[in-house]
Amino acid sequence: MSSLLRVGWGLVVTAALLGLVAFRVTGCAPAPRPGRPAPPPIAAEIPPRRILSHDCQAPGWEQAAQINASSLGGLYWAPFGRDEVGWRIYAPIIAREIGVDCPPHSTGFARALADWQRRQGFEASGLVSQFTFIRLKGVVQGRRPFVLLAAQGVCAAAADEAGLAVGRPDEVLGDKPVLLRPAAFSAYRRMVAAARAETPELAADPDLLKIFSGYRSPAYDAARCATQNNCNGRERANCSPHRTGLAMDLYLGHAPGFLADSSADANRLYMTQAPAYRWLLANADRFGFVNYPFEPWHWEWTGENPQTP
Ligand SMILES: [Zn+2]
Repeated sequence: MSSLLRVGWGLVVTAALLGLVAFRVTGCAPAPRPGRPAPPPIAAEIPPRRILSHDCQAPGWEQAAQINASSLGGLYWAPFGRDEVGWRIYAPIIAREIGVDCPPHSTGFARALADWQRRQGFEASGLVSQFTFIRLKGVVQGRRPFVLLAAQGVCAAAADEAGLAVGRPDEVLGDKPVLLRPAAFSAYRRMVAAARAETPELAADPDLLKIFSGYRSPAYDAARCATQNNCNGRERANCSPHRTGLAMDLYLGHAPGFLADSSADANRLYMTQAPAYRWLLANADRFGFVNYPFEPWHWEWTGENPQTP
């Protein structure tokens, strides 16, 4: 794809997503519009891995670094529609996107962010703000075919359960069987093998990166919403990406006193600073996986498209 086309497609996707992220975009999507023709398949595009800048000293960016250091723990904002304080949870994914391997309060981080902002065509302040993050989130979300469909008002169809594969006991956390599309399982297995081979901390704890939720039928999610009041907003009941057989929740560890999928800020902060998430951020795209940034544990495989209604 030419760079011009790539930029054009990026703008279209961003524009579509900006409409979507104005709402609380969860792992889920709006209800489908009946009678709408199925859109053409969408191929997610994951950019090649970038060489990270390790130069964290950037003269001239001291003031921006100072402001970022202050907002890191003190920014009052609602990046996913829910009030949050500070952006420490998202510092790793921001660093990944802007291609820097520096602390979030460093001048090198501010400079890299300014470079990214310039490439996006808006003010290159080097400051993390809700405006900047919403755009960065739009770029990340634009790699999820499920979300691209949702941006068109289309809820992906549920996978054909008969065609799904069952996870092995050694790759599943908990008692419930985990079902996924066979190719998604293959990609997952390649990824976990690489993670363990490349990172001793991940090899040392066999529970890390196990799957605790894969395919979930629309009926299951609706029942869970009704009986457990566990609706993840109202969207999970209507349309969850887990219906596709391409989405999986991975165990990344958890803060003391929290469950593996608790979206409490303290728990999400714990996870995003932990080795499993850090490894996934840096490497999962090699295997075709993308993350939903609000839920560190939620990953979708993009090697196949979701089915459309
Ligand atoms: Zn999930």
